[in-house]
Amino acid sequence: MSSRYKKVRVIVNPAAGQPEPILNTINTVFYPHGIDWDVRVTQKSGDAQRFAKEALEQGVDLVAGYGGDGTQMEVANALMNSNTPMAILPGGTGNAMTYELNIPRILQQATELIVGDNQIKKIDLAKINEENFMLRAYAGFDTERAASREMKDKFGQLAYVNASIKFLKEAPTAQYRATVDGEVIEGEAMLCFILNAGALGGVLGIPLPEVEHVDVSDGLLDLYALTAKVQPLRALSHYLFRVGERKDRTESQEGLGIYHWQGRKITLESDTPQNVWIDGEDYGSTPITATAIPQAIQILVPKE
Ligand SMILES: [Mg+2]
Repeated sequence: MSSRYKKVRVIVNPAAGQPEPILNTINTVFYPHGIDWDVRVTQKSGDAQRFAKEALEQGVDLVAGYGGDGTQMEVANALMNSNTPMAILPGGTGNAMTYELNIPRILQQATELIVGDNQIKKIDLAKINEENFMLRAYAGFDTERAASREMKDKFGQLAYVNASIKFLKEAPTAQYRATVDGEVIEGEAMLCFILNAGALGGVLGIPLPEVEHVDVSDGLLDLYALTAKVQPLRALSHYLFRVGERKDRTESQEGLGIYHWQGRKITLESDTPQNVWIDGEDYGSTPITATAIPQAIQILVPKE
């Protein structure tokens, strides 16, 4: 049996993931297929993008990134709008894109996908100024910082949930003005999300449900505003777990305090500057303008 991808560059973020024999596992899968592969190991932020660019220039058939969503985003940055696809080898604590795209979250299985029944899926990226992102940007209070490194190491994704609940209780609101493809919406909110991907990742290996209406290949971004100051926990649980009745999610839902719009270009302003995070990294503050980059990257996914 031979793989369509003969020449593969693997980019490993050694700081990510679980203690596991990465090279041995990859070799066990690739060797019987005669794949010509080699590896680059990142040392700092930016290396994965540089190595992926180099692989692209050298004409490899596929670039596989081992790491979390940050590593995958760097690889995507280098490969966007090229004909070279990428494979995701899950190595981080989050790996939300593996949930989004149904990619196995066990290294051996994810590697087997490269030589097995796969297909290419073209997915959108989004950008804010020069910063591209795969998953989401949000404005408001700081759940990432609340989930300390120590907590993340100890509890993984659960740290984010704990941090979210803690901060939601204390969260201040701001007056936002959103412009979605020219339509202006104004209102008070605690948190505004701009989603490219609907998957929120997993907690302790259990996937969180995807946010409905979010399609990573439709060329549109989804804006969600969370406004429920009175019952924030109830609103969060509805948001995450779809508890109870939800009618038309594209219109206001006063009972739940979740509002949803879609568009190609979304500008978010606020009366006082609000912190902004892009794919979990501190970005700066409002105002921001997010633009969809339709079908920007090709990713190897399981055959449907
Ligand atoms: Mg979309």
